[in-house]
Amino acid sequence: MSSRRHFLQKLTGSAMSLPFLQLYGSNSKDIYNRSYQGPVLRVAILGLGSYGTRVAEAMQSCKMAKLVGAISGTPSKLADWQKKYNIPEKNCYNYENFGAIKDNSEIDAVYVITPNALHHDQVIKVAKAGKHVICEKPMAVNAKEGEEMVKACKDAKVKLLVGYRMHFEPKTLEIIRMRKEGELGKIMFFQGLCGFRIGNPDQWRLNRQLAGGGSMMDIGIYAINGSRYMIGEEPVWVTAEETKTDSAKFKEGVDETIQFQLGFPGGAVASCLSTYNMSNLDRFFLNGQAGFAELQPATGYGPIKGRTNKGELSQPHITHQTVQMDEMAGIILEGKQPIVPVDGEEALKDLKIIDAIYLAAKTGKKVALKL
Ligand code: NAD
Repeated sequence: MSSRRHFLQKLTGSAMSLPFLQLYGSNSKDIYNRSYQGPVLRVAILGLGSYGTRVAEAMQSCKMAKLVGAISGTPSKLADWQKKYNIPEKNCYNYENFGAIKDNSEIDAVYVITPNALHHDQVIKVAKAGKHVICEKPMAVNAKEGEEMVKACKDAKVKLLVGYRMHFEPKTLEIIRMRKEGELGKIMFFQGLCGFRIGNPDQWRLNRQLAGGGSMMDIGIYAINGSRYMIGEEPVWVTAEETKTDSAKFKEGVDETIQFQLGFPGGAVASCLSTYNMSNLDRFFLNGQAGFAELQPATGYGPIKGRTNKGELSQPHITHQTVQMDEMAGIILEGKQPIVPVDGEEALKDLKIIDAIYLAAKTGKKVALKL
């Protein structure tokens, strides 16, 4: 079965009337049911690794976004992608020459999907080339770098979006709707448990120079970001405790496990765990005075599963990266407003929280946050 048909099959019936699909715009509520005639965001992917490949595959089902270019340091990968995704040679670049993309009128945006510490320079280079940028999470390895990226994109008058795919996930959006409409009552507590057991000790994720940290940068960020969109407020303080059981694998500056707490202005507290050393840890729990919501798995590639005090959540699974890229095309091309922001400022808040968590874990003190 073609991936297109497979995708369409998942979107039949009640799925077509869901509020999140209306995000596709006035003329395209049922965008996946008919041929689409509107504007298309032409995207080049920078970094053809495992996640870059997942995005490329998902984009084959997009309507408003199209994969048209590739940037890699490995010529054989570029050759493979040219064949597999029908990418013309003239839209392929390497890490040295991709500034020349500024003269390529066939590319509107570049999606940066490389190790975390490379995002800063690569995003700024894309912005200077006058192209919109989509960057993977974490946007950078600290808030200072994040601020520079936001500024560079503003100065270049290009959009900067960050790959927060959960911001478009139907069950997640349903819980956000319930919370906004008061169905859960006053929110008092959120729990975010995010982690997995990481394998090969030689991978870049365990190299501080490339990863900028450890589990917090990679997976703990989902709990941070999730606490914000689930509670619907910005935290004002953080406390944190780090545990390390294997200092050979998790070297200085690479966190294995951090427990952290976030305090919110309305009185809610988030209690979270980020780890590279526990399996099957992907759970969100939101508690309000009138109800609760639970997602498990909460942030994996799906299907996401969830329930509330009213029962099971039944919104359909749609490939996250397909919806994300179509939605981002709408944001860039038509100025659409997502329900939960996905811009550089949104990502910068997570980076400020990560900086504060590392400081709190190091000092043992409560750290105040101003986001
Ligand atoms: P990966 O190791 O599979 O791919 C990284 C790519 O970067 C490879 O193609 C590699 O060749 C290239 N690269 C360029 N310079 C490099 C260098 N100096 N060292 C190592 N690799 C280099 O990693 P990935 O899993 O694709 O992750 C890439 C980014 O995507 C990370 O920022 C990660 O956090 C993010 N990511 C996001 C999600 C998500 O669900 N949003 C999922 C996975 C990864």
